[in-house]
Amino acid sequence: MEIAKVEPMTTTRALRGPFDYRLPEPMVAAGVGVGSLLMVPFGGRRMLGVVVDVAAESELPPDRLAEPLEAIEAGATPELVRLGLWVAERYCSTPPRGLALVLPPGSGTGRRPKSMRPLTERTATVTAAGLEALRGEAGPRLGSRQRAVLELLESAGETSGPRIRELTGADSGVLATLAGRGLVERGSREVRRAPRIEPVGSPGAAPELSAAQRRCADRLIADLDCAGTRERLLHGVTGSGKTEVYLAAIEAALERGRTAILLVPEIGLTPQTLGRVSARLGDTVAVLHSGLSEGERFDEWRRLRDGAARVCVGPRSAVFAPVSDLGLIVVDEEHDASYKQEGDPRYDARAVARRRAAEAGAVYLAGSATPRPESWAELERLELPERVDGRPLPPVEILDMRAVPGAAGPLHPATREALAELGGGEGAKAIVMVNRRGFSPHLSCGSCGAAVSCPNCDVSLVLHRGNAVVGCHHCGHSEPVPRACAECGSVSIARHGAGTERIEQLVGELVAPARVFRLDADTTGSRGAHGRVLAAFERASGGVLVGTQMVAKGHDFPDVSLSVLIDADSTLRYPDFRAEERTFALVSQLAGRSGRGDRGGRVLVQTLAPDAAPIAAAARHDASGFLAGELERRREFGYPPFSSLLAVEMTGTAEPALIAAADCVAAALGPRLGGDAELLGPAPRFRRRGRFRRRVLIKSRDPDRVAAVVGRVIAEPEVVRSLTGVTVAVDVDPQ
Ligand code: ADP
Ligand code: ZN
Ligand code: ZN
Repeated sequence: MEIAKVEPMTTTRALRGPFDYRLPEPMVAAGVGVGSLLMVPFGGRRMLGVVVDVAAESELPPDRLAEPLEAIEAGATPELVRLGLWVAERYCSTPPRGLALVLPPGSGTGRRPKSMRPLTERTATVTAAGLEALRGEAGPRLGSRQRAVLELLESAGETSGPRIRELTGADSGVLATLAGRGLVERGSREVRRAPRIEPVGSPGAAPELSAAQRRCADRLIADLDCAGTRERLLHGVTGSGKTEVYLAAIEAALERGRTAILLVPEIGLTPQTLGRVSARLGDTVAVLHSGLSEGERFDEWRRLRDGAARVCVGPRSAVFAPVSDLGLIVVDEEHDASYKQEGDPRYDARAVARRRAAEAGAVYLAGSATPRPESWAELERLELPERVDGRPLPPVEILDMRAVPGAAGPLHPATREALAELGGGEGAKAIVMVNRRGFSPHLSCGSCGAAVSCPNCDVSLVLHRGNAVVGCHHCGHSEPVPRACAECGSVSIARHGAGTERIEQLVGELVAPARVFRLDADTTGSRGAHGRVLAAFERASGGVLVGTQMVAKGHDFPDVSLSVLIDADSTLRYPDFRAEERTFALVSQLAGRSGRGDRGGRVLVQTLAPDAAPIAAAARHDASGFLAGELERRREFGYPPFSSLLAVEMTGTAEPALIAAADCVAAALGPRLGGDAELLGPAPRFRRRGRFRRRVLIKSRDPDRVAAVVGRVIAEPEVVRSLTGVTVAVDVDPQ
């Protein structure tokens, strides 16, 4: 007897699988094993489940063992099952949630998604009798439409019903008649639901690699040829041609019969990379991301699993691509925060990629102009110190906003001048980044000082001029712009600060008649809108792109000669140990968008903190200097990579109950953590979406042990009782 140990795909946290099922002989013969997807009877329902192990016996008596109802032809590999279970454990989640990541899109609910069947279409082919009839040698006389169908099928071979109709006007009735007389044969074939890949920019053929690119590529190819895992950091300044190095390594992996995964930050923000890779490698590239329809995602997933596609490009979830014989995982722009998943399981795709590469004996390659301190310290480095075209990195000027009176507005005189000049220049383009959307980020009463804030969150409401409302960027609350102060009734309401809408307006006045394109969450809400804005900016003969962080990401426009960063220290004000690293990356990445063409480049950075280390280092293009200093600071405070962090986040609508629960969790954890772990908090965090929040932070050297302890403690009956009405989430490596 064979017993399958099955994890049912349930979202309930309380269930402890796996559960035993008896495999009937036909399923054993069909090769059901670890990774197979089954439909099983579970708690009176039909539910999808994954085989995580196969055993010869069960602890249950045979008559209490149920049999699976059906084996579904869409399972994962044993390697991926191990990876999914590892993610569940490492990130304090449940096995079904970890496994859902490695299964076909849509299986996480336990129900079988409709898309999980190949899409087929009806077709027709002409038979020998049909050909005879066509030549008038035998058989019935043909009507003109029937003749047209047979002629089409003779020349085109197997053709789909809709296509036949399109070309001849014959509907399924005509085909049925022809089939009834044996003149055509009906069939069906699978239709690939292929995602549309936006061509942005001009891909072209592979350029000859520069000497530095060649050295990096050769190193990686040598890595592919030696046994075991290699972990590398490709540190290349912006415009140094990192993508060509990735492509050379990916091609080398393919030549060796292996597969590759290329992770990119959100795909909507980096359509150029995908466009370039698929233009170069063709159909062997599959793409997996949430912008695809479920059917497209399933077909791409299956192409990867079946080996029809051997390279997967996608955002963080593509780290779970079902490829075999993995040779290489590349993480492009490895500093990007989008590699961390926000929902359960809160995995970090970079950590998962390293784990997967290590298990598969594959090469792990992280690439960035502004790597994370962790990667700088832990990975062996490959360097691309210069831009491919030999152009220098653009000079960066720091503009001290402390010297500019508030009444002068959010733009420094030097910024105004540079933009005004640009307006006159034919074809010149600029990028202006301001890290806030809306018109004014704060409103307050001119008489009593009361801020206009969100009723559900402890944040101020942002004025959006476009639709004349003030809105909350955390909970979506919005209301008409207040005419008077809610506290004292004064009608003098002052606006503070500038968001993208206000900068768009100011820039527009300076550069008219050149156009301004705005790129932020408000202008890119609809599908494909982001790409359309970028494409319009690319096509325009001049103009300015104004937007949030999105404007600093991954694209390559050769005619941008000016970059401006408004309020560069806004990210420094976050109470987060990664604030320095983020600020450095933002300033450097924005600077990197400038000066990629013949016009040269200029970068203006407006700030209230001109001496802050990340800003000063970015202005010198000094990543190694910044990272050395940053690692020193991290060592001193015991932050990653010198420790690992784990956060226990608790939220609730009643503050006293939440405080009591958080204290109880901290008290229960304290003695259990052991000597090398340090517990900080519980500390209050700002109220959000009507929920009060408390956070306990644990620093340690042994994240796996701490995750296991935390998982056990928050499941203990006393702790669970104290958590009534409180939601708990465990965040490993919080961002
Ligand atoms: P990075 O990702 O390092 O910022 P990209 O990979 O986007 O740089 O490359 C910048 C530009 O240089 C792209 O337009 C790319 O096509 C071009 N490029 C890259 N390598 C070469 C090369 N060896 N010769 C000529 N052009 C190159
Ligand atoms: Zn007031
Ligand atoms: Zn709110």
